Amino acid sequence: MICRRAQTAQHRQSSLTVCLAAALLLLSTAALPQAAPATRQAPAAAKKGAPPKATHLLHLTAVRLDGSGWTDERVLEVVRGAGRVLARCGVKLERMELVILAVPPSYLDLATPVAREVARDYRVARPAVYFVRDTRSSPAFEAESFGRGNTKSRPELADTVWITVTARDPHIVLAHELAHVLMDSGGHSDEPGNLMRDQTSPKNTALNPAQCARLRDTATGNGLLKKAK
Ligand SMILES: [Zn+2]
Repeated sequence: MICRRAQTAQHRQSSLTVCLAAALLLLSTAALPQAAPATRQAPAAAKKGAPPKATHLLHLTAVRLDGSGWTDERVLEVVRGAGRVLARCGVKLERMELVILAVPPSYLDLATPVAREVARDYRVARPAVYFVRDTRSSPAFEAESFGRGNTKSRPELADTVWITVTARDPHIVLAHELAHVLMDSGGHSDEPGNLMRDQTSPKNTALNPAQCARLRDTATGNGLLKKAK
């Protein structure tokens, strides 16, 4: 399913030369059979914990930096894991476009100036998640997100998440950071088990009704989600 065909592209007015390959993955059962049987729940449990009917659709761009340590398969696994968490808010991850960027080694780690250049020179649809090697930011977060509110002076980073290959429980981390972007809020929760607790953990996956409402409404208003028909 994953296109490996690469074509060299010199982006116009770009100081950064990138090679790219892109593949569109339709995350429906017809296009891509459900994976991860090892973690599949028993039918009764699956029914009990089934997510609500999808009211909103998410089309995500995943940008994998070649040489970051991320593989296409791992990216897909992590994105789908995050999608299962967001499904609790009635959000269906319907489509993921995978873009593979070959960049110079100095671009593989997250640092704001470098991130701005990558985001600006090869523009992709938002929301977008960049899968990078490491971070040069201090403090060194294993992932960072940029909403609208914290990108006034760096608009090219708006509606993006950046996640390092060393992130623990990366699907939870990605769901947490995507929720920040979709809600356009850097706020955290003290609720036990909440996805938006400061510390991410596989035990923290819940989103309360108010969080879900804000996530759906804000993201729809910002053009990051579509209403399901
Ligand atoms: Zn956070």
